[in-house]
Amino acid sequence: MVRAVFTVLLAPLGESLDDYNRDRQLIPGQFAIPQTQWEAISDAALNRADTFAARALLALELIDVMPCTYPDPDAPVPPVERVDQRPYEHVLTVAREATDVIAAASAHCDRLGAAFGVGSPEYREAVTSWQHGLSRLFAMGLGARTYVTRDGELSLLVRCEPGFVYGIVFHPVQRRCTRDGCRAVINDDGHAWTYLRDDPKCPDGDHTPSYPLDAPHPGIWQFHS
Ligand SMILES: [Zn+2]
Repeated sequence: MVRAVFTVLLAPLGESLDDYNRDRQLIPGQFAIPQTQWEAISDAALNRADTFAARALLALELIDVMPCTYPDPDAPVPPVERVDQRPYEHVLTVAREATDVIAAASAHCDRLGAAFGVGSPEYREAVTSWQHGLSRLFAMGLGARTYVTRDGELSLLVRCEPGFVYGIVFHPVQRRCTRDGCRAVINDDGHAWTYLRDDPKCPDGDHTPSYPLDAPHPGIWQFHS
């Protein structure tokens, strides 16, 4: 498909792709096509890639081999018939320990809502990031066969059939002292400490924790490849 694009672009120059080889390389960035057409071409290519569950990988490669774009909303874009090329189903295998993690993550969000309020940033950031993690798990962009295992109390390890591995990892926010100039970090048991021995800390040892000792840890789930 990309070959066809460049055949058309080179024709006015009296050239064809055959004129290019290892010694005379074609630099895709030196050509430009209207943005709408670029999108139609990449859309069609990505659609085809779904058959092989290679959408995400192809998307990265297209950026390198496709021409540049310029805005031209009037450029003709032929209608493309959309055929869903994806495999019929996404087979998701979830280890039993991973089902516990998923339940625990939802429960953790609930506890944040109860402790900080459902309008609080603590609750909303956790819920939003967990939602993103979950929907990524179900998406088929990385293949139609996915294995999910436990990777800690609130984190998952995900292996996709083409071999891609990523984590949905919970990162708790450290409890700190909020008093002016104090750099203390406070554990769940109330023990306060500093990264460096000489870091300033409340001289009276009377710290003000950024969130209560008995509250669930605020934090977000992040994607790690
Ligand atoms: Zn302090």
